[in-house]
Amino acid sequence: MSSEHGRRTADGSGASGSSGDERPASGAEFHDLRFVVISGPSGSGKTTIVERLLTQSPVKLVKSVSATTRSPRPHEVPGVDYHFLTPAEFQARRERGEFLEAAQVHSSGHWYGTLKSEVRHARELGGWSLLEIDVQGAREVMRQCPQALSFFVRTPSEADLERRLRSRGTESDEVIRMRLETAQRELAEATCYHHQVVNHSLEDAVREMVGHLVQWERSSND
Ligand code: 5GP
Repeated sequence: MSSEHGRRTADGSGASGSSGDERPASGAEFHDLRFVVISGPSGSGKTTIVERLLTQSPVKLVKSVSATTRSPRPHEVPGVDYHFLTPAEFQARRERGEFLEAAQVHSSGHWYGTLKSEVRHARELGGWSLLEIDVQGAREVMRQCPQALSFFVRTPSEADLERRLRSRGTESDEVIRMRLETAQRELAEATCYHHQVVNHSLEDAVREMVGHLVQWERSSND
């Protein structure tokens, strides 16, 4: 096992203790770091895939713990699942240039973002920074960090996506409708990613992605 997903400091400043960054957002600082960007509609299974990759990838991956203004769900642990910030804290940190990217997701009014401190943490651990982010964030990371390897995870069909969302039994019809609409918009951007992974089965999807990671590592070491 070569991954890292440990508990982080509550303010998202990372184990290194670095807490701020006055510089403007720029991927140049991270030109020497590899990124793995994973997006996909809610219900596509990307979160489970990420968990598997963190334990099964032969390439060392360090998951970036995102910041968000949404409230924690019952099972979520601050600093592990997300850094939960108030809207004011989020915007203050955004203005200080602490985010590599930040976006309002799902038309819900909630902000999500990748803290530069999380990315630095991956570098300190000698791993690749794994970002599970939406299409807006992915677009921004790919723009700033052209060395990023990107995956878009999708279900075999839209009907499958709806079935998966409904089978969770946790969301209202209204939320499901909104997520399906968001999915339509996200699917339209799938071709911007290096690889589209159809999640027929978890094992196959993970195996396929590990194959791409290994190949990518080899090709950039050549
Ligand atoms: P959830 O609230 O269900 O955990 O996540 C909702 C969406 O936010 C998902 O599509 C997820 O990929 C996206 N997301 C999570 N973290 C980030 C982030 O740091 N930046 C961006 N742009 N999107 C994120």
